[in-house]
Amino acid sequence: MPELPEVETVARDLRQRIVGATITGARCSWARTLRTHAPEAFAVAVTGRRVESVGRRAKQVVVELTGEAALTIHLKMTGQLFVVPAATPEDPYVRLILELEDGREIRFRDIRKFGKIGLYGRDPLTGELVTEVGGAAVFAALGPEPLDDAFTVRDFRRRLRRRSGRLKPLLLDQSFVVGVGNIYADEALWAARLHPLRTAGTLRPTDERHLYDSIRTILAEAVERRGSSIDDYTAPDGDGSMQEHLQVYQRTGEPCPRCGRPVKRIVVGSRSTHLCSWCQRLSAADRKGAAAALRTMTGGRRRAGRRWTEIPGEGTLGLTPDEAARAASRAGTDRTKRAAATRRAAARASVPAEPSSSVPVR
Ligand SMILES: [Zn+2]
Repeated sequence: MPELPEVETVARDLRQRIVGATITGARCSWARTLRTHAPEAFAVAVTGRRVESVGRRAKQVVVELTGEAALTIHLKMTGQLFVVPAATPEDPYVRLILELEDGREIRFRDIRKFGKIGLYGRDPLTGELVTEVGGAAVFAALGPEPLDDAFTVRDFRRRLRRRSGRLKPLLLDQSFVVGVGNIYADEALWAARLHPLRTAGTLRPTDERHLYDSIRTILAEAVERRGSSIDDYTAPDGDGSMQEHLQVYQRTGEPCPRCGRPVKRIVVGSRSTHLCSWCQRLSAADRKGAAAALRTMTGGRRRAGRRWTEIPGEGTLGLTPDEAARAASRAGTDRTKRAAATRRAAARASVPAEPSSSVPVR
């Protein structure tokens, strides 16, 4: 599922293409894509508005429109946005089309149909996006943006010290800090040498600072690389490359780039979690509670006598750091090629006519 860097990339690409464009109509083929309106009412409400800017809040693209309104686009698992000429053949997975005055269309393609698009107004008093005037703010429950300059290590510490949970679920909690999902939570915890099941309350001030730095560094690097094109993620201007630079995420069995021991996978709260159990140690006190935290786990192999699921990879111990790095890089490249091939095949299968017709206009 797209996280902060992927959604930021989509927002930036979209901004280059649609700022200044006027919406002249909307067609929706899957009513549940719309969070706030029935399809006909949505088309009426959005028609005639011009795109003023495109931004992002947490994992949602926010398209600011004239008339104190904004579209929120949550890509969820498989949502994709393209801007194409209206003549481009339609793809069966396109759920919503916004027609533009200049003859182009913004198409929301979403194979799994979990994506959600809302149209909200601004409260004239607070300036916040709201469900109705005087009503609840749309983004009220969200925590701070981790890449904001205003988000300091002191803020992070203060928030952390109010929490008692374990680090992995805490990082995924959008009311704690937004934008971090499964990929970047695993990467940030590995970079900070913190076990995903460590409890927030056991962190020393230096751990807190490392975690803060890791989250920001990794998210910024991922934005720079246009996100991780894993599964269905792609942006209007094409794929990202961060997947080639991930250290532990989906690298079960490959050598840890720091110590060469195999990366392990455990399941925390039904989410796959990747770590190096050598670099990311768990104290005896935290281990004690870990079994309970993992009782709801799914997937993986469970062995008698184990406190949590571990899926050890092939024996990669004994590699020199150089060999380890080469192996990791090879595997990463292969995986990227496979993912890109899968996406290309999906795009071909879904476009009946000319193969080039699914390529977004530049
Ligand atoms: Zn390690």
